[in-house]
Amino acid sequence: MRRALASLLFALLALPATASAQSLEYAAPTASISRGAPLTFAVRTDAPDGSVVVRVSGSDEVDVAGLLTGPEGTWVDETAMPAVEGLQVWSVPASSILRQRPGHYYWQAYLSGDAATGAEEPIGPVQQLVVTVPMADRGRGKLFPRFGRRGGTAFYLSSENFPATVDGARFKALAKKASSRWGLRAQRWTSVEAGVQDGYSVAGFSSRVPRGVLGVQTDYIRGGRVIERDLALRADENWAAGPDYPGLDQIDLESVLIHELGHMAGTKRHRPRCANSPMIEALGAGEWWRGPRDKWFGECTSGARASSVRKTLVHRLVRMD
Ligand SMILES: [Zn+2]
Repeated sequence: MRRALASLLFALLALPATASAQSLEYAAPTASISRGAPLTFAVRTDAPDGSVVVRVSGSDEVDVAGLLTGPEGTWVDETAMPAVEGLQVWSVPASSILRQRPGHYYWQAYLSGDAATGAEEPIGPVQQLVVTVPMADRGRGKLFPRFGRRGGTAFYLSSENFPATVDGARFKALAKKASSRWGLRAQRWTSVEAGVQDGYSVAGFSSRVPRGVLGVQTDYIRGGRVIERDLALRADENWAAGPDYPGLDQIDLESVLIHELGHMAGTKRHRPRCANSPMIEALGAGEWWRGPRDKWFGECTSGARASSVRKTLVHRLVRMD
């Protein structure tokens, strides 16, 4: 029995990983890792040292050849290094965006140079990698007084100008959660428009918010008293309503709601970009602040920038008023 097992193991070891000499077989990572955890891309192959490249992208878009692609700056290439016989790896540095920024990524290995010519499968299949935030670090709980003042306003949710990409029930859930964190109260739906002075405090989307502005919170004052508080979000924006983190080309709806409702609760001042606060002056695509340990702002730490070698994951900056 024992001898049979030993000879089986020997037979497995003696065999190459697969029949084709230049194939790419993924050995690591698993489909999901926790933020900050070690991350190594490992490929079993008999291809020459230095010919295996690992590509990681923020989207699953591929070109005609099956190679991950997308706007410049949204993917990164790294040449794998030989680890042991038949195994080439890229061990990702701790400060890399891939270990620091939670979210969904897509990766594959491919052969470069002479190794790619004549190879049966020069481009390996695309795999998903999810970088997660521990449950205890996820954004929740009250935001006052640490990040601003406590509010008391009750407001309606506008069903007007609603973007097709945002689910109404999801928007309502996000608005209720974000408002309660500031002491505000999100109430029922209305057909009243957001951002119009009409006697009703309303939060919703508007086609009148200019390009480059994600949302506008307005207090209407009469006789020294606030008579109406509105929040208008830009309808024509590439919103990510969660709960997944935004893609690199998406604006995080929860972060913008938290910010604008902070204004509605009475905090008018902005904090500098990269401060650990929901009241920061700008938010880029692919960024978020949902809680003090549930946030990502691009290019705020020198380490993240230095480690991503030649390419960085670029973020669009949009003013948040
Ligand atoms: Zn603001």
